[in-house]
Amino acid sequence: MNDPLDWIDAVTAERARLGLIRKLAVPDPALIDFASNDYLGLAADPRLISAAHEAALQYGWGATAAPLVRGWKPPHEELVDALARFEQAEAVALFPTGFAANLGAVVSLVGAGDAIYADRLCHASLIEGARLSGARLRVYPHADAERLSAILKRERPAHRRVLILTDGVFSMDGDLAPLVDLTAIAERFGAMLLVDEAHGTGVFGPDGRGAASALGLAERVPIKVGTLSKALGSLGGFVAGSRRLIDHIINHAPPFIYSTGLPPAAAAAAREALRIVQDEPERRERLLRRSGALAAALRSNGFQTGNANGPIIPIRLGESQSALAAAERLRAAGLLVPAIRPPTVPRGTARLRISVTAAHTETDLAGLADNLCDPSIQGANS
Ligand SMILES: *Cc1c(COP(=O)(O)O)cnc(C)c1O
Repeated sequence: MNDPLDWIDAVTAERARLGLIRKLAVPDPALIDFASNDYLGLAADPRLISAAHEAALQYGWGATAAPLVRGWKPPHEELVDALARFEQAEAVALFPTGFAANLGAVVSLVGAGDAIYADRLCHASLIEGARLSGARLRVYPHADAERLSAILKRERPAHRRVLILTDGVFSMDGDLAPLVDLTAIAERFGAMLLVDEAHGTGVFGPDGRGAASALGLAERVPIKVGTLSKALGSLGGFVAGSRRLIDHIINHAPPFIYSTGLPPAAAAAAREALRIVQDEPERRERLLRRSGALAAALRSNGFQTGNANGPIIPIRLGESQSALAAAERLRAAGLLVPAIRPPTVPRGTARLRISVTAAHTETDLAGLADNLCDPSIQGANS
């Protein structure tokens, strides 16, 4: 008899043909890392490590049960309070990951009879939540607020509740959402607006609160999601908003209700990171200055970096094979720059994704620019 798992071989062969097989690896630690989302260089900061160490000694490693069953431990409560103050929100719901926070928020807010309008380049966790929710999902062209407005004008009356989903900073393109228009559209059509600040928190805005804050709109985003695992160097995700929104979410979001809480040490590390974000604005200022200079240098050399604005700089190469070959050449030169392929990005838009962090030196960035300008990579830039 055939093994009922034999079908996997055909699927794998097709993926291989398309250059889409992915494999886990432990990269050589000697490579200069342009693949990490540790934008502020906090993941290895001794202050986070000692905060985690102390919390683990005092409260143990595991959270031991889901928060509504066991209750929080003190580091969770301290983190939630600190996040609410930071976000100037009435309340915050803490999730095991940013993925869980997005999924949980979306499924708590809409269901059958409702509609979701999502930017085409929204993070996968928002789209998975949208599919699970049972609401009708409609995707609008990337950053096209005018189009969204036209669609809502036609369709808004047919739906009970409407939810607009967008990343604040798009994870694979590094551009900012048109939040001035999106907040106005949400208000005009009586739609809920969720902004995922996974790549904005700690990096953008005068106070490090993200893209909405950079655009002066933080108070007009009623549902904000963030992660603790990127610029904050830890693990976990959160939703910030009004007390009634958060009380509703913790009562309705399955990933909150049915999942064990973060290790108290992860919460303590994130709490320390939040303090550093507030006390050391020069970290994000330097990061934005350096990444802006790198993007400008690449553009002046003819690279297509789209509307990237910040530490995420994509270099579009088109086909998956070109992106893989370029990543391989950079790796041989000592640089870890990931090739991003479908389905993470739309077909025909495979790219290198450079992620600049506060841990990079000027020399690291100059070395990357020199290697990228090698004709074998520049020739493939479409
Ligand atoms: C990484 C990411 C998430 C998920 O966050 P995790 O904490 O890693 O689960 C959500 N949204 C966006 C835009 C992301 O890039």
